[in-house]
Amino acid sequence: MFNLILFGPPGSGKGTQSDLLIQTYGFLHLSTGELLRDEVNRKTPLGIEAQMFMDEGQLVPDEVVIGMIDSKLNNNPAAKGIIFDGFPRTVAQAKALDKLLELKHTKIHTLVALDVPEEELKKRLLQRGKESGRSDDNEVTITKRITEYKNKTQPVADYYDQHGKLESVMGVGSIEDIFHNIQKVLERYVAPLKNPAS
Ligand code: AMP
Repeated sequence: MFNLILFGPPGSGKGTQSDLLIQTYGFLHLSTGELLRDEVNRKTPLGIEAQMFMDEGQLVPDEVVIGMIDSKLNNNPAAKGIIFDGFPRTVAQAKALDKLLELKHTKIHTLVALDVPEEELKKRLLQRGKESGRSDDNEVTITKRITEYKNKTQPVADYYDQHGKLESVMGVGSIEDIFHNIQKVLERYVAPLKNPAS
């Protein structure tokens, strides 16, 4: 089993690159943002609690997202690989993830960090807000999300760097070039599917 954290600030292209990774390698995709939006849309108690934080551009409490990831891992014991997208976002989440994976006799193999300048992030997120209508892609919330990222999430990259697992990839340029650079990291660990999904 191969476990990858696709890491980067909001708007760095994690979702776009995850789609290509799923098609090419057949990994299971675990995006806490998507899982939370699903809970919000279904108006579950968890969704109602999470929405208050999401609307404010703040992180949802650690125990909520760790619980979601725990149940997804238990429900997918046969996954040949997992892309963690938007998780872990705090060092406490990273430590909890390491423990959950250890119980399953596996680990995080590498963290690929997408590097994108802040001005470019803001531009992309405002554009996405217009196209997708995501309510947290507005100017006020974007600034707060980037601040949360710098304060609470950036230390996650340092945490995995201390374990020799950090790989940085420039997240600006064509989608294909960025994907190619991610593949160069992954080829040390996994081979693409013979018949990738299209
Ligand atoms: P995303 O789709 O990854 O940009 O996440 C959207 C929002 O969901 C974030 O701004 C947070 O409020 C919340 N969220 C997603 N993942 C996490 C996480 N791992 N920890 C805490 N909050 C999260």
